[in-house]
Amino acid sequence: MPRRCTVCDHRERHSIDEALVDGAPYRSVAKRFELSESAVYRHKTEHLPTHLLKAREVEEAARADDLLEQVRDLQTHALDILERAEKAGDLRTALAAISQARGNLELLGKLAGELDERPVMNLNISPEWLELRAVIVGALEPHPAAHRAVLGALERAGNG
Ligand SMILES: [Zn+2]
Repeated sequence: MPRRCTVCDHRERHSIDEALVDGAPYRSVAKRFELSESAVYRHKTEHLPTHLLKAREVEEAARADDLLEQVRDLQTHALDILERAEKAGDLRTALAAISQARGNLELLGKLAGELDERPVMNLNISPEWLELRAVIVGALEPHPAAHRAVLGALERAGNG
């Protein structure tokens, strides 16, 4: 029964996909979600690309897979935490939130299929990326130190 996949059927399939897209080794993903390594490996090689393609189509069709939406939610949370941490003067948490936000951006870039092949060129002209970059940089404007840190990190990421 080739269509049965314990990963596809898993209720945390999106989290699993995110972990895989984020570069987590399939062995550790299997352990974390109590799945067999072979199932995760097969899912990663055979199903994940389709899910990601779907996620791209969703961007245009605004339906089906909500993976991108989930990452955007994560990003909203990260920026929210950043704002609260900064208000509280908790720079350690603020930095962690910045790092999380940057990770989300990279994940979004990967989901958009932009990072794999021609990272700099494609990433920089991706509307998805430009929109998010503007949102993040804008949100950080009242916080000069964080603003500088994120801009620096983005630049380093952009330069490979
Ligand atoms: Zn699968």
